[in-house]
Amino acid sequence: MSTPARASIRPEVPTRNLTEMDREALRALLCDELGEPAYRVKQIYRHVFQRGVRSIDEMTDLSKALRARLVEAGYTVGRVSVGDVRESIDGTRKLAVRLQDGGAVETVLIPMGEGRFSQCLSSQLGCALDCDFCYTGKLGLSRHLTAGEIVDQVLVARNAVPEGARVTHLVFMGMGEPLHNFEAVVKSLGPICDPEGLGYSHRKVTVSTVGLVPQIDRLGAEAPVNLAVSLNASSDEVRNQIMPINKRYPIAEVVAALARYPLPPRRKMTVEYVLLGGTNDSEQDAERLGRQLRRLRRRIRINLIPWNPFAGPSYARPDEARVRTFQRALTEQGYTVTVRTTKGLDIDAACGQLGERPEA
Ligand code: SAH
Repeated sequence: MSTPARASIRPEVPTRNLTEMDREALRALLCDELGEPAYRVKQIYRHVFQRGVRSIDEMTDLSKALRARLVEAGYTVGRVSVGDVRESIDGTRKLAVRLQDGGAVETVLIPMGEGRFSQCLSSQLGCALDCDFCYTGKLGLSRHLTAGEIVDQVLVARNAVPEGARVTHLVFMGMGEPLHNFEAVVKSLGPICDPEGLGYSHRKVTVSTVGLVPQIDRLGAEAPVNLAVSLNASSDEVRNQIMPINKRYPIAEVVAALARYPLPPRRKMTVEYVLLGGTNDSEQDAERLGRQLRRLRRRIRINLIPWNPFAGPSYARPDEARVRTFQRALTEQGYTVTVRTTKGLDIDAACGQLGERPEA
C-alpha cells in the first residue's frame, strides 16, 4: 500500500468546494475573511444542501458583490457531474460520477424496499490495497477523492432515485479504502451528518475497511459511525494470499481493534466475509472463523458475500447450498449471520465489481 502522504495520490483539483465545508469552516470564510454577517452560513447551507442549487449565481438572496467574490476566489458548488447511469433489472442504479480532472468513480443506489435506497459511496479513484478477488483492487490507486467529491456523490444521487424515494443509508463500500483516505472521509462526514447539512445521523452511515488498525481507532475517537470490516478469511495464511494488507495487520490485531471500537449500546458492527468457492468457504473455515471471532460474538453481525465474478482471477462463486452450510455452521456457534443479497450483478454494480471497464 502506498502511504497517504505521497503527493501523486493527492488530488490536483482545487478544494474550494462549498459542499465540503462544515458550518464552522464556512463561518470562518464568510465572517472572518469576508466580513459577512453570521446568517449567511445558514443561507448558503440551505441553498447547497436543502435546495440543491448547483451554482453560486443561483443564490439570489446573497448580494451580487458577495457572489462575485466567492466565484472570483474559485469557490464552486460541487465539482462532479453525472455521466452514464445504468439500471439493473432489480432496480439497482449505478452512476458514473465524473471528476473535474477527468477521472470517474462509481456510486451505486441499492433499493431497500418501500421507496428507501442505500447509497454506496466511493472514497478513492481506484484502490491501493490490491485484494486479489476485487476488481477495483486490480486497478491500482490513481488518487484520493476530496471530501467535497464524496459529499457531491450524495448530492447528485438525490436526483437519480425515483420520484418520492429517498436515500436513507450511506455506506462507504464503493471504490477505494475509506480509511486510507481518512482525513477526507471524516471531513465529508461534517456536512453529511450535520442536521442542517445532509442530515444523516451517524447511525445511518457505515464505513467499511480492510482493517487498517490505527485508523479504526481514530475513527472511533473522531466520528463513531457504524463500522464494517472485511475479514474474508479464517486464517492468516489464506488472508495473506488474498489480502496483502494482512501482512501488516493480521487477523488477531483486527479483531482486537474491533473489540475496543466504541460501540453504542445495542448496536452491532459488521464482519464481512466474501465467500470464495474452494478457497475460504469450507465448514472448517466456518468453525475456525467462529473461534477467531469468539470474543466479539455479541458485538458483531457476520455478513457473507458470495463472490461476484469478473474476468481474471480463478475464483468460483459458491452455490446456494454451500453458502447456507457455511451460514449454519456459524449460527450454531451463536453468531448472527446474514447473507448479502446480490444486487446489480447485471450492470457490474455488485460488491467488488466497481471501476471502468476498458472499451470493448
Ligand atoms: N475497501 C473497503 C471498502 C470496499 S467494500 C473494504 O474492503 O471493506 C467492498 C466489499 O466487497 C468488501 O467487503 C470486499 O471484501 C467485498 N468484495 C470485494 N470484491 C468482491 C467481489 N468480487 N465479490 C464480492 N464481494 C467483494
